[in-house]
Amino acid sequence: MRDSMGKRAVFTLILCGVLVILAVSSAVSVSMMYVLSGQNSRSVPTKEQVTEHMNKEIYKHTAIYYTADEKPLLDLTKLTLDYAKRISQIIVGYKGTAPLELIFFSDEAEIEQYSGLKNVVGFYSEQEQMIGLLPEEKKQLLKKDELAVFMYKQLIIHEYTHYAFHQKTRQMGTATSVFPLWFHEGLSEWVAHYDVVIDPITFSVVPFDQLTTDRKWQKSRMEYETDVYLQSFYMIKDLTDTFGEGIILTIINKTAETQDFEKGFEAATKESLKRFEHDFTKAYEKKKTALERQVSNAVS
Ligand SMILES: [Zn+2]
Repeated sequence: MRDSMGKRAVFTLILCGVLVILAVSSAVSVSMMYVLSGQNSRSVPTKEQVTEHMNKEIYKHTAIYYTADEKPLLDLTKLTLDYAKRISQIIVGYKGTAPLELIFFSDEAEIEQYSGLKNVVGFYSEQEQMIGLLPEEKKQLLKKDELAVFMYKQLIIHEYTHYAFHQKTRQMGTATSVFPLWFHEGLSEWVAHYDVVIDPITFSVVPFDQLTTDRKWQKSRMEYETDVYLQSFYMIKDLTDTFGEGIILTIINKTAETQDFEKGFEAATKESLKRFEHDFTKAYEKKKTALERQVSNAVS
């Protein structure tokens, strides 16, 4: 899931040599990102109701539901789906073509009602194998504004990565809940920023055991000022910087062998999860102090 820009922390990115200030990660108290809640409520529209008056186009293994409003976005959407598929094959190792539906929602109320998530611009539902989208800055996006296009692509890649990760773990016979939430969200964020050079950033680290389940994740959102999506992104970045990109797939495979994330992590990295958490926390606290010092020197 991705939340709306207004709720995100400001984060500096260098994109293709162009410096853009972009809000990327989320700061929203929502339930588990890719699992819908509140599906039994009567007020929740069905997928058939949502898509009733929409056009449908089958593009490879994805059925895209759209209205005249989103028609101009179709080419970009297809190109981004192709990219997301290619990168997921490399990073997540999912080479299949399980059916996927991509549905554009008409407004905030509709996507919130359907997904049960607040301030949401995208979500993935494994139950329905569908991606729901509510593109931000739609006017700008239709004008092909560079930043709006970039955000839109990231949104699709983020949600597609959830899909690919779920399919892959299912193929391996592992329940996705075996993986902590930071791994799910961090992976989606990291893949979505794959081609982007990221500037150093400071944040206070939230204890890892607070980022494992839906309930704890929500609580952490309330209790800590830190953006838990951003931290999860950096956790995956740290892992891939240290062990190489292949570490993601190795962790997935080793976790499948043991049906235990902690054991899988240790078998893949030859380092305990506790050790990694400890080193990550220490490293980021150190970076935070160093960057804060830089900032205070710069202004003094
Ligand atoms: Zn997500």
